[in-house]
Amino acid sequence: MTSIATCKSCGAPVIWCVTTTGKKMPVDARESSRGNLTLERQPDGELLARYVEPGTGTHTSHFATCPHAAQHRGHGQGSLPGMGA
Ligand SMILES: [Zn+2]
Repeated sequence: MTSIATCKSCGAPVIWCVTTTGKKMPVDARESSRGNLTLERQPDGELLARYVEPGTGTHTSHFATCPHAAQHRGHGQGSLPGMGA
């Protein structure tokens, strides 16, 4: 099942995929001729997002195009030290 979702930050349609490292990642639902991802349907129905050379893929990570990507990255891993309130 392809589950199209909506980015809570900018409202763009996204597809939740799983990366080769097993992490969930929102990918732009709209195909891009300049993408750096290819999507592969897995036997369990998940879509695997595999990074390829920029321009050879069919899709783009929504992290790369979301105008509010910083909010996505704000929780979870990778918080910058010294940025707290
Ligand atoms: Zn967004």
